[in-house]
Amino acid sequence: MLLNKRLAIDLGTANSLVYLVGQGIVLNEPTIVAVSVDDNKVLAVGNTAKEMLGRTPESIEVSKPLRSGVIADYAICEAILKYFINTATGRVRIVKPDVMVSVPSGVTSVESRAVLDATLSAGAKNAYLLPEPLAAAIGAELPIGDPSGNMIINSGGGTTEIAIISLGGLVVSDSVRVAGNSIDESISSYIRRKYGLVIGEKTAEDIKIQIGSALPLSKDIELEVRGRDSIAGLPKTIVVKSQEITEAITPVLEEMIKGVKAVLERTPPELSSDVMDKGIIMSGGTSLLKNIERFVTVKTGLPAHVVDDPLLCVVKGIAVALENIGVFEKSIIRR
Ligand code: ADP
Ligand code: MG
Repeated sequence: MLLNKRLAIDLGTANSLVYLVGQGIVLNEPTIVAVSVDDNKVLAVGNTAKEMLGRTPESIEVSKPLRSGVIADYAICEAILKYFINTATGRVRIVKPDVMVSVPSGVTSVESRAVLDATLSAGAKNAYLLPEPLAAAIGAELPIGDPSGNMIINSGGGTTEIAIISLGGLVVSDSVRVAGNSIDESISSYIRRKYGLVIGEKTAEDIKIQIGSALPLSKDIELEVRGRDSIAGLPKTIVVKSQEITEAITPVLEEMIKGVKAVLERTPPELSSDVMDKGIIMSGGTSLLKNIERFVTVKTGLPAHVVDDPLLCVVKGIAVALENIGVFEKSIIRR
């Protein structure tokens, strides 16, 4: 008998990953599409679309369709999933694959249905959805089936998902639109305000990754930054210090903490006490920001730990759920 392939797909606001069960991660590309403006046809996805950024004629638009969480455009969602499924399994297939996709915790049943339909018409035999915080928790190997509170903060590019999980389900959860992209924007506007220097999205992200820190570093580091003078319009180079970046991003991080506190306030007391013992688990690319776990601890009074592979945690969790559908039955959404 031919066993059909099983694919786990993490459709992130910044990066998308595909895991082929039995093999591992087979695709890891930015969630970017190039669309033809006239007929809304998807021309390229992922790395190929990224290379087109800033180099397209008016008839082609390159965008990040998931910026704030879910894909609003059904046709684009289907085209992306089709690209992932075809790339991961090869175009010639005898048996269609089973596909599980993660979705943000706040999706409505209409949105869930749309993603399931898109997955099926993109070429899946069976389609399943897994709420992202559950995927992250499974990927982090948290004992989510136990009658005990587990808290996870999964912070990516566009959204930060905060959840309390017990007995395989989300007890309290929220998704806030404050994450990596907002941090990048706070850096751009700080540098523009203070130095009159206009920098691109990519430069802002590089500054964050290289010298950004949620709390002041014991030894300040600096970085040379290039941009365009906002008045003269000419190229200009400045030097920024890590301490300045901390100052620039603090308001955004405080905003994120508000979301965390709001979830804690809605958490039943028994589960809060579990979280006090076990601490908060952090995943997603933004948990790689220097000192972020210390910042969370200082602001909430709870211990916080970052998982081993923050960028891979969600897709790994989806793969585990897909391999053990029976065990995770209660967490999985299907038609
Ligand atoms: P999503 O799941 O939304 O696609 P990811 O989990 O892939 O997002 O994380 C992407 C975000 O993580 C981006 O905003 C990126 O700038 C940020 N990021 C990646 N590496 C680092 C790092 N070393 N320090 C701070 N932020 C990082
Ligand atoms: Mg993610």
